[in-house]
Amino acid sequence: MSTPAFHPHDHSHCVHGALSEADRLCNERGVRLTDIRRRVLELVWSSHQPLGAYDILDRLTAEGHKPAPPTVYRALEFLLEQKLVHRIASRNAFVGCTHPGAAHAGYFLLCTTCGNAEEIEDSAPLAKAVATAASKADFAVESQTLELAGTCRHCRHD
Ligand SMILES: [Zn+2]
Ligand SMILES: [Zn+2]
Ligand SMILES: [Zn+2]
Repeated sequence: MSTPAFHPHDHSHCVHGALSEADRLCNERGVRLTDIRRRVLELVWSSHQPLGAYDILDRLTAEGHKPAPPTVYRALEFLLEQKLVHRIASRNAFVGCTHPGAAHAGYFLLCTTCGNAEEIEDSAPLAKAVATAASKADFAVESQTLELAGTCRHCRHD
């Protein structure tokens, strides 16, 4: 799956692709993508702008569901565990992963104009540099966050 976050595109393809990939992966892993987990994933994928837990809660409430906040948090936790979404630390929000089957650290470009987040596609060299730096410092890495804020090509040319 490509990541056209910074280009105009038919986003329904992104949503459809992400959901069918999630179905496939959960099936393969023997974990259940319950209705609420699937709906939360779909909401996270409603755009390329990271979505906060409270925005998700608001939208579910507007749809007539009355989910308790822990229900939403548990669904997000599941999606994080299954690496179907990434947490954007600087925005305390979540964004769908564009290649959830592959092991990778989520490194992101965040456009401060359109608000979109795009995962850095070729993240392997970065991950390698990070691992080397950590190992030189004899440091055991548990989590890592790389978020570059700036302006995407699309917004610069508008
Ligand atoms: Zn899209
Ligand atoms: Zn990812
Ligand atoms: Zn932009």
